[in-house]
Parts: sequence; C-alpha cells; structure tokens
Amino acid sequence: MNLFSLIRAAIPSPVKTFIETNAGTILTYADMLARSGQLANVLVARGVKPGDRVAAQVEKTPESLLLYLATLRAGAVFLPLNTAYTPTELNYFIGDAQPTVFVCDPSRRDALSAIAAKHGAGIETLDANGQGSLTDAATKASSDFADVARTSDDLAAILYTSGTTGRSKGAMLTHKNLSSNAKVLVEYWRFTKDDVLLHALPVYHTHGLFVASNTVMLSGGAMIFLQKFDADEVMKLLPSATAMMGVPTFYTRLLKHSGLTKAACAHMRLFTSGSAPLLAETHVEFSEKTGHAILERYGMTETNMNTSNPYDGDRIAGTVGFPLPGVELRIADADTGTVLPQGEVGGIEVRGPNVFAGYWRMPDKTKAEFRADGFFITGDVGRVDPRGYVHIVGRAKDLIITGGFNVYPKEIEAEIDAMPGVIESAVIGCPHPDFGEGVTAVVVCKPGASLNEKGVIGELETRLAKFKLPKRVIFVEDLPRNTMGKVQKNVLREQNAKLYAS
Ligand code: AMP
Repeated sequence: MNLFSLIRAAIPSPVKTFIETNAGTILTYADMLARSGQLANVLVARGVKPGDRVAAQVEKTPESLLLYLATLRAGAVFLPLNTAYTPTELNYFIGDAQPTVFVCDPSRRDALSAIAAKHGAGIETLDANGQGSLTDAATKASSDFADVARTSDDLAAILYTSGTTGRSKGAMLTHKNLSSNAKVLVEYWRFTKDDVLLHALPVYHTHGLFVASNTVMLSGGAMIFLQKFDADEVMKLLPSATAMMGVPTFYTRLLKHSGLTKAACAHMRLFTSGSAPLLAETHVEFSEKTGHAILERYGMTETNMNTSNPYDGDRIAGTVGFPLPGVELRIADADTGTVLPQGEVGGIEVRGPNVFAGYWRMPDKTKAEFRADGFFITGDVGRVDPRGYVHIVGRAKDLIITGGFNVYPKEIEAEIDAMPGVIESAVIGCPHPDFGEGVTAVVVCKPGASLNEKGVIGELETRLAKFKLPKRVIFVEDLPRNTMGKVQKNVLREQNAKLYAS
C-alpha cells in the first residue's frame, strides 16, 4: 500500500520523460527510479527509519520532488515547509514534528543548524540547482533500494496548516489519503501518459505536491517544472504542454499578457484552478480569450480534493462543481451539526478516504473538527444548488487567501499587538487585483505613540514569512464593534474595499 508502489506501477517506459525544467534538465522515469533510490539509501544511512519524519525547506527542483519520493520509498513521513518561513517559525515546526533529518538551503545551514541540533535532527542541504550535501552523498550511494512496505493507514506526509489560534497544526496524511485522491483525479480529469503538465506551483503545498505531482505520476505523464510562476515563461511553454494547474492569480496574470490567444493555447486540453476562489469574471474572460473553460475544484490540506467541476459537461463559473467519486459532502448547521435542507447555506462537511488522519499530536483539536459520524468540519461555508454544484460562499474561519497562500489574521494581530505603542489591531483581506486578497492591518495606537506604516512592516519582517506581511497598515482611532463587542471586520473590509484598486 506504499503510494510509491502505485507510482512505480504507472511508469509507462523507463525512457519516458518524467520531469523537464525550463533550465534544460531532463529526467526520465529510469532516472527518477535510480536517483530516488540513491536518496532513499542516504536517508536510511542518516538514521531514517519507517515512520520517521524527513523535513525539507528547499527550493523547487526535480531533486526536491525526488526527496519526497525517496522519503516514501524509505517508509518515512515527508514534511515540506514553505520556503518563506523564518527561523522562529522553523523552530516551532522542527520542535513539534521532531524529524530525523532536516534539509535546508546551504545558505541557511549556519542559521538553522542550532535549531536542528536542539530538536535532535541531522541537517542536510539542497540548493536551487539541486546541489548540496544530500545530492553529493546520493551520487556515491547505490541506486538499488527495496521499497519499505506500508499499510494504507501509515503516514506518508505531514503538512502544516496555519493555526487560527496562532499555533500551526500538522495535518497527517496517510498513503491511502494520497493514493485514493490521486487515482480519482487521474480518472476525473482524464490524465494519461501523454499528458505534459505545466507545473508552476510550489511543491511544499498540497496543490503542487499532491494534486499536481501525484496525479501526473499515477498517470505516467510528464511535468515541466518552473521554479516560480512567470507569465512570459508560461506563455512560451504552453505549446509544449497539455495541462496546467493554477491558483486564480496565475489566470489574472495570464489575462494581462498580450500573447494569450486561442492559438497560444491550442495544444492545451485542461486548465484547472483552486486554493482560492476564482472570480466568475476571470473564468468568463479566460474562456472568451482562449476557448478554455477553467475547471475549478475545491480542496484543502486536510482533505485533499473534495469537489470538481466536470471534465465533460458544464464548468460553471463561481462554483466548485460536484463531490468527487468516493467523497461524501453535506451542508450542516455550524453549531449543531444538523444536516440542512438542500439549497441552504451552512458549514461544508466531508467524509471519505481523502480525509486526513488528524492533527499531529493534537488529539483534542482533531476531535473538535470531526463529527461523531466521521465527517470533517472544513470551516468553509457553502450551499449545493439544485443541479448538485457546490458553491462556496465564505469561510467560517477568519482566513485570508493571498496569491494562493493562507494567512490567519490572528497570528499577525498577535505580533502587532505586542509592539510598544499599540492598543489593538485587526488584520483583514481586501480585494487585490493581483493577489486576490491583500493582507491589510488596521491598527489603534496609544496616544502619543510614534508608529508608522513602514516601521510596523519592518518589525514584522523579522518575525513572519513574507507572504503574511501586511501590504498596507492603516491607523485608526477605534475599531468598529458590534453589540457583543466583536470587531466588525466586515465593516473594515467595506471601508477598505478599494484600497488596492488599480
Ligand atoms: P489549503 O489548506 O491551503 O489548501 O487551503 C484550503 C482552503 O482554501 C479551503 O478551506 C478553502 O477555504 C480555500 N479554497 C480552496 N479551493 C477553493 C476554491 N476553489 N474556491 C474557494 N475557496 C477555496
């Protein structure tokens, strides 16, 4: 039941291309097998045993994906970390997950080795060109490796989600969670060995790592790896690709590109979008310009993919489609869990082989987010229309999604509130033409305090990942509150709705 055995079984031919990069690297499936085998031998030599964690904060390269595969083969648990995380944040993740090996960029080795050592992890390096102590050791290792057997309930990965209460939670994903979802997506989205996926997503997040890579690998297809999304680069590569998976920001950026035409997309069969709401206007405009209806789907770190617009049939703008085969979805009263009548708006709950095994070492938090009958409370609010399409209408949790990244306001508010001269703050997402939502801080200062926008952002820069930083800081006398004393973030959002208008 090791996911890697399914990946291995799907290899169409050893000479077939597995990954190519825009820098000219080409890896065949034979290379993938040999090099992931070498890396797995290095991990074992470094003391990694089945069930141990292997953490990685590394740039996206073919080698970073091979490290994920090597971890699976060794029966260990992969723990990818956002490259933007600061040492303070990493200290928490490494301390919480206690990996046996932590892989980082060589430029950060000095700054991070004490953190790794403190938590008992060995440190290895891998840079943006796929070079480092890890690959040095791998070149000397044997490529033969006997994959470690796993049961379907054994863990394959832990992905940290930001915590609404400040602490991040590690979502535990089993081999079955990942393989069942990837199998469903291969069929639903019709992936075959002839597909070439234009892969411009990060590989430390569920979208780029599992939705994109696992789906391609289980179909024996190929990927073109771009380290970052770049509209010019994507336009250049579209004629070599058949599919692209993106966040809405990719599509708004492509729409600004003068080269985006039907002819430019003639070789493509599928564009998908997820991780944040795709504006109906974007869907319509893209379809007018290219003839392609973007296929929007909905999922989350904890559940993998839950719903998708159909491959054949209407892909409806502003909806996330139907529950995927094997996924049960219901709309329930957020407080009581009572299932609501068809058409009503309520909390989205899901159950199925895609749903994670719980939060790492947080049994109480895990319990609180599941109903007694096994449904997971997603925290998203939605409804199902008469045709069965799911609509997401909001988020029960106070989440900002900026450029596809989740930002939990509480974490940033706590940092701002701790600054001298601050009484309180509210962090909100405001419509942003490029990022979807722009992180915005509204701050109340003590009389006479000499805080300014630049100073607040500068202070946060040392503590928080770049994507979490407010793009604007606004100073006000008071925060608007309702009769229950709760800050009315909706009022703040309305007041600042045009803050980033272009
Ligand atoms: P993550 O765990 O980072 O993948 O974030 C998951 C959250 O992203 C979900 O709980 C939703 O709030 C949001 N999300 C993902 N896909 C969509 C979508 N197609 N439309 C609206 N929100 C989405």
